[in-house]
Amino acid sequence: MKNLSILGATGSIGVNTLDIVRKNPQRFAVKTLTGGANLQRLAEQVREFSPEMVAVPRESDVPCLRKLLTGVEVEILSGVEGISACAAYSAADMVVSAIVGAAGLVPTMSAIQAGKDIALANKETLVTAGPVVMACARQNQVAICPVDSEHSAIFQSLEGHRHEDVKRLILTASGGPFLNRSLSSLSTVTPEDALAHPNWDMGRKISIDSATMMNKGLEVIEARWLFDLTPERIDVHIHPQSIVHSMVEYVDGSVVAQLGIPDMRTPIAYALTYPQRMPLDLPALDLCAIGQLTFMAPDTARFPCLNLAYEALAAGGSAPAVLNAANEIAVEAFLEGKIAFLDIPRVISMALDEHGSAGLDSLDDAITADLLGREVARESLSRFN
Ligand code: NAD
Ligand code: MG
Repeated sequence: MKNLSILGATGSIGVNTLDIVRKNPQRFAVKTLTGGANLQRLAEQVREFSPEMVAVPRESDVPCLRKLLTGVEVEILSGVEGISACAAYSAADMVVSAIVGAAGLVPTMSAIQAGKDIALANKETLVTAGPVVMACARQNQVAICPVDSEHSAIFQSLEGHRHEDVKRLILTASGGPFLNRSLSSLSTVTPEDALAHPNWDMGRKISIDSATMMNKGLEVIEARWLFDLTPERIDVHIHPQSIVHSMVEYVDGSVVAQLGIPDMRTPIAYALTYPQRMPLDLPALDLCAIGQLTFMAPDTARFPCLNLAYEALAAGGSAPAVLNAANEIAVEAFLEGKIAFLDIPRVISMALDEHGSAGLDSLDDAITADLLGREVARESLSRFN
């Protein structure tokens, strides 16, 4: 039996994780859950999975949640401290880190410091503080099992091979909803257009990141820290079918890939059960029915966010944290109709230029860089309104 803490339980990854738990009650138990705005859903999850502790970001939501949970025995906490207490809860063996954004960083670090293995969906944690997080994981002998489908694919393609034999990683990207749109037509796309991802059903923020291709940029940074390879050895191929989830090229020219239908339950389950696998009740991959798998180079003129991520990695230190923070602010502004789609990379680029790069040696440094990135990005927003 594996005891889980699920951070961000009400989101897309959280719901998929609980679906796996629901179908495998002999394998998994839920010890803590955290959620954000959707209190109704969180309360339903608490009633179904009986955790011992639950937390929400806003203290003001506690009375409402308490009311929804009348008659249920569960400790209710709030704020970053409450969420971090869930992350470090003594009875849990593994923490599923599925909060969206840099808000996941502090709770994930709390889990690592408490010696919990991590099933990591929250890529922003590694983008914001990659070297600090990985050093802390090594120190605490904690395993970080990737949930992001590309990183799960690479993790699987590295199994049984030597790190020194790796030539490069090839991350695949669907290209998102605007793969075939012209640059000029991108200036008028709406949040609704951008949220309509062709292959994956995900949260709002990551859906916009997929449309700008910042998601792939964040994933390059995530891969850089997770697999300890320099950015020159991490490439991106557009692969619209989302069947080859990513690849590893070795020094002898062999390329090892992991394939599957696009369903997040596969990488989530692998992170939960590694090094074992468990049967999942999903449709089989039918390559004959799909017929063709295609690949092409990304178009960085239409999707400049990918290059911004490589630039931030090259600048090093706090630059990736600033990139991530500015992206969060820009995406939120786009979703609220305050800026245009093509303003997103402009806001991020201005934040990077303005901030430059400082050292990043501790969690505090990462938090400072995140706050600075947000501030600089908010200031630049006024220039677009
Ligand atoms: P989502 O928006 O569906 O869910 C996010 C969860 O985080 C919700 O439970 C929400 O209540 C909670 N949350 C939001 N803001 C919070 C805050 N300030 N404090 C505490 N909790 C907060 O997002 P998602 O699509 O499930 O993505 C979660 C993470 O997983 C992201 O980092 C994303 O990049 C990554 N990821 C998602 C997918 C996917 O298919 N959805 C795939 C790969 C990686
Ligand atoms: Mg991914």
